Amino acid sequence: MLKDKVLSGMQSSGKVHLGNLVGALQNWVKLQDRYDCYYFVADWHALTTGYSTPSVLQESVKDLLINFLASGLDPDKCTIFLQSKVLEHAELHLLLSMITPLGWLERVPTYKEKQQELQDRDLSTYGFLGYPLLQTADIIIYRAKYVPVGIDQVPHLEISREIARRFNHIYRDIFPEPEALLTEFPKVPGVDGRKMSKSYDNAIYLSDTPKEVEQKIRTMTTDPARIKRTDVGTPDLSPVFQLHKVFSTKEEQDEVAEGCRTAGIGCIDCKKVLIKNVLNVLEPIWAKRQELINNPGQLQEIVDKGTEKARKVAQETMKLVREAMGLI
Ligand code: SF4
Repeated sequence: MLKDKVLSGMQSSGKVHLGNLVGALQNWVKLQDRYDCYYFVADWHALTTGYSTPSVLQESVKDLLINFLASGLDPDKCTIFLQSKVLEHAELHLLLSMITPLGWLERVPTYKEKQQELQDRDLSTYGFLGYPLLQTADIIIYRAKYVPVGIDQVPHLEISREIARRFNHIYRDIFPEPEALLTEFPKVPGVDGRKMSKSYDNAIYLSDTPKEVEQKIRTMTTDPARIKRTDVGTPDLSPVFQLHKVFSTKEEQDEVAEGCRTAGIGCIDCKKVLIKNVLNVLEPIWAKRQELINNPGQLQEIVDKGTEKARKVAQETMKLVREAMGLI
C-alpha cells in the first residue's frame, strides 16, 4: 500500500541547535518509518531574509545536510534534497503568484512580526512577502498529504490550503489541500532562558564541542531565587529544569526537582546531570557528523539521489499544472 506523503523543510540560515533537533529532526526520524517523507534544505527560503550573506548560506546548507543524516534521517527510508536544485519549485511559485491575491500574503501574521523582529535588514522585498507562496509551492508540488507542525503553526498552513483550493477551483483538481500533522514540540529554552534561537545567541549547537556544551550549560540561567547554595528554588522557574524535562529520565527529573525545592542539591550538581544527558544524546550525532565530514562524496551522493527523486515527482506535477493553465 502506498504511504501518505509528508513534506517538511528547514531553512539553511545558520547552525542547527538542540531546539531544532528535538523540535523537528527527532520527529522527522520517527515519521520516516510511517510515511513517504520528503525532507529538504530550504536554501531559497534562507535568501528571503539572508540574501546579503551568501557565505553564511553556503556553509549552512552543508551543515544542515550533515545534521539531517547525523540525527538519524535514513536516505533508504526518506527523500532528502536541496530546494534550489529542484527548479520546478520556482516555476510553481511563479505560476501560483498569478492567482494569489496580494491581500492574502499581506495578511499572513508573521509577515509584519518578522519584519519588526529583523529590523536590521531591509525586508521590503517581494521575496519576503512571497515567502508563504514559495512555501506553498514546496508542499503542493509533491501533493503531500501532511505537513508536521505545532499547534501554533496551523494558521500558517491555512494559506497553502487556500491557494491549493483556489488553483483547483480555477483550473482542475490537481492539489490535495495539505493537512497539519499535529506534533507536540517540547519547549527548549536557550542558555539565557529565552526560546533557543540563533538570533538570541543563546543556543547549544550540534556542531559545538563537548567542552563548549559543558561550558554553556554550566553558565546557564537558573531560578533567580537560588542565589546561595542554601536558598530553595522552584524548578519550573528554571530553564535548566526545562531542559531536564527534555533530556533527563523521569527519576532524574524528580530527584533534581526535589533537591531544588529543598536546597538539597546545588545548581552545579543539577547541571552536571543535565550535561551528562545532553552529551549522551550528542555523542552519536558527533560521531556520525565526523564520518560525513570525512567523506564528502557520500554526502553528495545521498543528496544527489534524493534531489533526483524529488525532481521526478515535481516534474510530473508540473506537467499537469502547465496543461491546466494552458501552457504548452
Ligand atoms: S537546582 Fe537545578 S532546577 Fe533548581 S534552580 Fe538550580 S539549576 Fe535550576
